Amino acid sequence: MTFKDLGLAEPILKALLDEGYTNPTPIQEQAIPILLKGKDLLGVAQTGTGKTAAFGIPILHHLYEAGQQQGRRKIKALVVTPTRELAIQIGESFTAYGKHTGLRNTVIFGGVKQGKQVNILRNGVDILIATPGRLLDLMNQGFISLRDIEYAVLDEADQMLDMGFIHDIKKLIAKLPPKRQSLFFSATMPKTIVELSRKILGDFEQVTI
Ligand code: AMP
Repeated sequence: MTFKDLGLAEPILKALLDEGYTNPTPIQEQAIPILLKGKDLLGVAQTGTGKTAAFGIPILHHLYEAGQQQGRRKIKALVVTPTRELAIQIGESFTAYGKHTGLRNTVIFGGVKQGKQVNILRNGVDILIATPGRLLDLMNQGFISLRDIEYAVLDEADQMLDMGFIHDIKKLIAKLPPKRQSLFFSATMPKTIVELSRKILGDFEQVTI
């Protein structure tokens, strides 16, 4: 199986070629077709499996195919992840795989002044990668609206739980528009995580790596 067989848009195939990726990893091979169909996904997988591209590529593909609307860009895809390091890595992946699509992403996290992050958000982005605390903070200040979200990704859900983000995550889920595609990734699936996944996912398919 190659990326071409998955039916991805040309600018994305070109970027994957630039990255030197020839074949999808197992999670990509299984998850990308499910996501391209528009289904929700529960991914039981760890970092290092290629899961960032597994969710990033279909999101970029859909947003690219939908085309650019008039006016300021609205946040269409949201990725919530527990740490600043993961957020930065995910942002770099979206930038790499999306570099020929014209789509813009930005990364927000706590522990730094918010000014720069707010300025980038004001200019408009298509994809937002965020840690939970700073995301809620900027939402409460009115700098971010989740009204136009079409794709919501919860990454490393078990780690978010361990870090005490459960209440923040529940608040975020409540603010998402009901009509959306949801993706939920966790390395382990204890009971609390299964319950949390049910709160965000609709009719989903599961991939375990
Ligand atoms: P992740 O699990 O998303 O953190 O990805 C782990 C690493 O695998 C990253 O350094 C990616 O750049 C790399 N990677 C992801 N997909 C592929 C692929 N299809 N072929 C080769 N490397 C990949």
